[in-house]
Amino acid sequence: MILQILKSIILLCSVSGLAAYIGWEYTSKSFIEIFLFATVLQLVFFYFYNSLISYFTRLKLERENLETIQLINTNNVILECSSCKKTNSVRVDLSGSNEFTCTHCGTDNILNIEFKTITKTNIL
Ligand SMILES: [Zn+2]
Repeated sequence: MILQILKSIILLCSVSGLAAYIGWEYTSKSFIEIFLFATVLQLVFFYFYNSLISYFTRLKLERENLETIQLINTNNVILECSSCKKTNSVRVDLSGSNEFTCTHCGTDNILNIEFKTITKTNIL
């Protein structure tokens, strides 16, 4: 970490020094003025660059978290194929329609989910 910071500072000073040397040769401005201007310009540029990078990284992480939450809300169920009666592991999501293709015979199946209620009885 400290090594990366030192490397960044050395690179920043090198680019500013090069810009100041070139500017000092071809303009009437002093070396220090051009050096400071180039340094501030680089700092502002990298501030916005890093802000954009962190913004897009945060968006990507939020999207991945959302996909993970959607995966958590589904359940795997062992179901028989309607055609060959062999079992398949099917991911069931109650928020939409569920279909699966049998891994044994390749038949496309649609999952029909029915909910029934029963009365809870008390033991006498
Ligand atoms: Zn099948």
